[in-house]
Amino acid sequence: MNEMLAIIDSTFKDNLDQLTLHRMPGAIPFGGKFRLIDFALSNMKNSYITNVAIFPYGNYRSLQDHVGSGRRYDLDRRKDGLFILPPKNTFILPGDMITFQRMYEHIEYFTRSTQEYAVITAAIIVWNIDFNDVLSNHIKSGADITEVVHQNIRLKTFVLHKKILLDYIEGYDSLEYKTIHDVVESAPNMILNVYKHQGYTRTITDAFNYLKSNLDMLDFNKGQQVYKADAPIYSKEKTSPPSRYLNNAKVENSMISAGAIIDGVVINSVIGRDVIVKKGTIIKNSYIMSNSIIEENAHIEYAILDKQTVVKENTLITGVLRAPYLTQKEQVVTTQHKQRILLAASESYPFIKTGGLADIIGSLSRNLARNNTDVTVFIPYYKKIKDSFTESIKSEFTKTIAYDDKIYKIRIYSYRYKKVKYYFIDSFDFFDTERVYGYENDTDRFAFFNKCVVSLLDDFDTFDLIHIHDWHTSLIPIILDNSQHKGTKTLLTIHNLEYQGKGKSDVIRKLGIENFIFKDDMINFLEIGLNTATKISTVSPTYKEELRYEYYGGHLSQTIVNRERDFYGILNGISSSWNPETDKLIHTKYSLSKIEDKFKNKRFLQKLANFEQKEDAFIIGMVSRIVEQKGFDLILQQFDKILENENIYFVLLGTGEERYLDALQELENRHPNNVSLFLKYDALVPNYIYAGADVFLMPSRFEPCGLGQMIAMKYGTLPIVRSTGGLKDSVERYDSFTDKGNGFIFNNYDSYELRQTVEQAYIVYKNRPTMWSKMISRAMKEDNTVRKSALRYIELYKAIIE
Ligand code: ADP
Repeated sequence: MNEMLAIIDSTFKDNLDQLTLHRMPGAIPFGGKFRLIDFALSNMKNSYITNVAIFPYGNYRSLQDHVGSGRRYDLDRRKDGLFILPPKNTFILPGDMITFQRMYEHIEYFTRSTQEYAVITAAIIVWNIDFNDVLSNHIKSGADITEVVHQNIRLKTFVLHKKILLDYIEGYDSLEYKTIHDVVESAPNMILNVYKHQGYTRTITDAFNYLKSNLDMLDFNKGQQVYKADAPIYSKEKTSPPSRYLNNAKVENSMISAGAIIDGVVINSVIGRDVIVKKGTIIKNSYIMSNSIIEENAHIEYAILDKQTVVKENTLITGVLRAPYLTQKEQVVTTQHKQRILLAASESYPFIKTGGLADIIGSLSRNLARNNTDVTVFIPYYKKIKDSFTESIKSEFTKTIAYDDKIYKIRIYSYRYKKVKYYFIDSFDFFDTERVYGYENDTDRFAFFNKCVVSLLDDFDTFDLIHIHDWHTSLIPIILDNSQHKGTKTLLTIHNLEYQGKGKSDVIRKLGIENFIFKDDMINFLEIGLNTATKISTVSPTYKEELRYEYYGGHLSQTIVNRERDFYGILNGISSSWNPETDKLIHTKYSLSKIEDKFKNKRFLQKLANFEQKEDAFIIGMVSRIVEQKGFDLILQQFDKILENENIYFVLLGTGEERYLDALQELENRHPNNVSLFLKYDALVPNYIYAGADVFLMPSRFEPCGLGQMIAMKYGTLPIVRSTGGLKDSVERYDSFTDKGNGFIFNNYDSYELRQTVEQAYIVYKNRPTMWSKMISRAMKEDNTVRKSALRYIELYKAIIE
């Protein structure tokens, strides 16, 4: 038998890692008895792996306490055994996986060990896996690296020869690959193999998965796939008296740990050690951790109560499976309070939209409301909203606002839209404009808006948190600090750092803010927001990481680094109305099972674009603002070359900068049969392109999140993107060998790479139709709905509020 050493990544890498239950991932208690690290270590023991290194995260003392000498997992030995290898720099950043650099810090561990192979895995999986089987499969395949997947879900688990691993560790300084994951993604010379693990598997990346896996274990069938008699999961044993059931107890399909005293109703739940459930209480679909006390007549559904939670009598707690109600250790819960969130922004769909921001405010607020949140949105009442919505919008009240030593009158209008309470702030002096942005006094307009938002707090019940967006609302925290609402929690989300709102510093005086330390006679709205909001976030985990570097974060990168601990990355999603099955705008509706009908939309687009109706035409579509960010320099450098292939067509819908518009026009003149431009906003319904094109191009220099690629995927139009920001987080690279991927990705902001990738896509399209259909199927199945993002925001709000 070939020997293996194992590396366990206990650096929990979800961007919500600072929340309850995510504090110390390697040590999350599981099922009242088990901790996630036990799954990793027991699987090692059962596979005869005798040399294991854990790379911990944060304060790892509890992990150390729990694993002890490793005796339970047969790892207390003189030679080899269990090692916890902390980072040299204790402040490590959440990235995706342990880096080679961190391994290099413990290079002696790797050079001293005698094992021939290495397994790298993460301590966040509930499963029972035989690594010996993975290893034989790996050796048989002849590949360099084997990645373990379960039903196409990647499990951050790899097997490889130690020599290869050592090469990467030793070269950490000179190679572009930071983690084994990067190697698998991008190293050109690595031969990859995929091992498909069968049996119950769930990665615990959030509260939903955590609760779900606990409840799944109540299902005999699923439980047996994890807790096997011949390959047990070991954990720390404690002794408590047996559980007791009193007169009123009724228990169905639940796990009741030792020491618990039950006098209520428990259905489909996991009850930890020494928990007390009193008379009249009902607990359903929940996980109650040890030593909690649930008093009389409480009702609890879909909740995870951390250790020693006390739920007072008559309390109603209702979460949903996808967003369970969470408590922190020792929390006392009385009646559940519905989160009251105020969103303040410069635009929101369907009322007013200039770009992706409006889409997000509209769909996020709706999805928050659907998930048990009390949502209010404040936006300015622009002329365009007045023109199209006056009839349905209700006038509420007037108010006066002091700004720049003058008194301005505003009027508030309201509208209830799908459970969301919208309030429009009408000011003849500032918002009665044709456009949303682009006025000389924009900084005054939005500073005034911020002042209105804070003043209006007097007229509403208290909000638990104000969620502000981009520079237009970035002064709200500092105005709050200078008002009687000081202390109100805020979350500032950066949708695009490129736009910062720079203006004369006398805005501060006009707002009546004192004690402001001026750097010079200009101020930067976003910078002030970043320094004063309670927490900050951005719209994808990768963009969040990128902003720390000057290339992306510019002069604000240091400000971002300073707030690293308060900074989160939550990927945006698209509204569920983007759906080819229900889309009334497209030529012919279609779904994955009727994908032939996508072709009718292609024909229709060909007609609109005046393209020849060629059978094997390859249409590259784009719907985009035409600005530097979106990669138009790369496009203009290479499209003449790309279009030498007469089967390739390019259709673009967009508006933007003059310099690009002219150059694009010239490109169209040179290739009149193969290029079609619609240079307006909505000159053509963007849906025609999403539905009719074969591929969707987004070669962005940077992309905070990007919605276009997600919409395109939903319509089975494969994205071609640069590996940056949200593009990196939402598109999976095409890989012919492992049969994976739902799009095409290039790494560097380099026009030659763009061309190669477009040509690669064309070749797959032309020569590998089966592969192409599989990619379409994977793209269309991707769940990028905003609902998913909303649930993450709910968790984050909660952590901030508490
Ligand atoms: P950004 O917000 O940086 O512009 P996103 O990809 O996040 O980029 O969002 C762009 C949104 O605006 C998409 O929904 C896209 O379809 C839409 N869009 C962009 N340009 C146009 C246009 N000219 N006409 C219609 N819709 C457009």
